[in-house]
Amino acid sequence: MSGLLLPGSRLVVATHNDGKLREFRELLKPFGLDLTSAGELGLPEPDETGTTFAENARLKAEAAAEASGLPALADDSGLAVLALWGAPGIFSARWAGPDKDFTAAMQRIEDELHARGAIEPQQRRAAFIAALCLARPGGEVEEVEGFALGTLVWPPRGKLGFGYDPIFLPEGHERTFGEMDSMEKHGVDWKTGHGLSHRARAFIALAERCFAEPRL
Ligand code: IMP
Repeated sequence: MSGLLLPGSRLVVATHNDGKLREFRELLKPFGLDLTSAGELGLPEPDETGTTFAENARLKAEAAAEASGLPALADDSGLAVLALWGAPGIFSARWAGPDKDFTAAMQRIEDELHARGAIEPQQRRAAFIAALCLARPGGEVEEVEGFALGTLVWPPRGKLGFGYDPIFLPEGHERTFGEMDSMEKHGVDWKTGHGLSHRARAFIALAERCFAEPRL
């Protein structure tokens, strides 16, 4: 991508979701960018018609860059369960239905694992995946992905986090994402380039390519 985004550069976060915007602000803080969001600018929300996380991130980023005339950053993320052939995958939000009922979505995963006799941890492997796309108004894009591997526990544990966090036990840890605060879940160390969550890992990869040195 031509030119790093330096401190003070404007960047549109292509989301209408306040929770996501808060998370982006937190993760991008060391780069001193001037952030605004598609929601704040009143930009239209494109339909997520892609068949992969990367495609959906790209269509959201490109739509926001084109409509605003500014660089725009979008993500698309979800949970892929190995024994369920990658489901819910790009449909992770949709499994929770219009009421965003993640208790029901987690129960559905558990029921489907149970139906397949997936009881042992090694039969309950899953990955959180986050795709990020930074699009420039001219059409240039930068795309990265981050993964977090783990196993699914039952019953759900912890009231922190959101979505499927309470059933996801990251590899090498004893607490689920639902039992970690956001600092611990993301586990970002800009100096070493280490991150724990899928989103943190994607941001670290993006920062290496697109942003100036973090101010720590
Ligand atoms: P998106 O807003 O289209 O990216 O949908 C992401 C969906 O995937 C969310 O609604 C959650 O269901 C799930 N998801 C993605 N990342 C996480 C996470 O870090 N924790 C828990 N659930 C997540």
